[in-house]
Amino acid sequence: MKLIRKGEPGEESPGLILPDGREVDVSAFEEDYDEIFLETDGLERLAEWAREHAESSPPFPDGDRYGPPINRPSKIVCIGLNFADHAAESGMALPAEPVIFFKASSAFCGPNDDLIIPRGGDKTDWEVELAFVIGKRASYVDETEALDYLAGYSLHNDYSERGFQLDRCGQWVKGKSCDSFAPLGPFLATPDELSDVNDLRMWLTVNGENKQESNTSNLHFKIPFLISYLSQFMTLLPGDVISTGTPHGVGLGFDPPQYLKPGDVVELGIEGLGTSSQKAVAAS
Ligand code: ZN
Repeated sequence: MKLIRKGEPGEESPGLILPDGREVDVSAFEEDYDEIFLETDGLERLAEWAREHAESSPPFPDGDRYGPPINRPSKIVCIGLNFADHAAESGMALPAEPVIFFKASSAFCGPNDDLIIPRGGDKTDWEVELAFVIGKRASYVDETEALDYLAGYSLHNDYSERGFQLDRCGQWVKGKSCDSFAPLGPFLATPDELSDVNDLRMWLTVNGENKQESNTSNLHFKIPFLISYLSQFMTLLPGDVISTGTPHGVGLGFDPPQYLKPGDVVELGIEGLGTSSQKAVAAS
């Protein structure tokens, strides 16, 4: 299944993308895609419901905004330096264990919402990433059983304000948490929608110019390991978003560095997970 949510911020209706590409409103299912939905086997219940009702569900009006495909999660956990070529461009070594950091859940937004360059920010940067969503409460999970805890996959842009992240002391979270810094979607794909999550092309352009071009096969720490690893330090809740790291080609890595300014348009995609686009605007 491909799950979407459409409508104005905070008022999104749940929907599905059908195999023929039609996008239908499944408000009649009467549940939003959130922690409770996932914790109560919502994906199975939705699939069952959809078999009978999806075809006859009403289409969304053309041009409706995509919200993030799940309601705001309890946390967004990111993996840093998970591609060898990105670690090198950042002047850092591949870590012996995953580097993890948080993004504030208030940074969460729709896939095509404007990117707001924060006040005082002049080093706002892009990062195309494969994200996955947790499907059930995960604590001390064994790697061999880790995929049982997965709800699905989605496209994420892990926006970063490098000045806040690297020049302002302390943890990276300051430069990762601004409003609009976590556009997710357009849809959440359940695992059966992808033939091989470890072989998906991923790319990003700025104003039409290629910046990032890689493949999920280059992920250093793979998803089952990451679920198990994270669950040794925290309980992952249904709906939590884990972003697996970005490849080579972020603005920081260019000489001289290239950062976003109002009016710039960022487009990105991952094979099988759709595309998204954000226009940079200055914070009001
Ligand atoms: Zn990242």
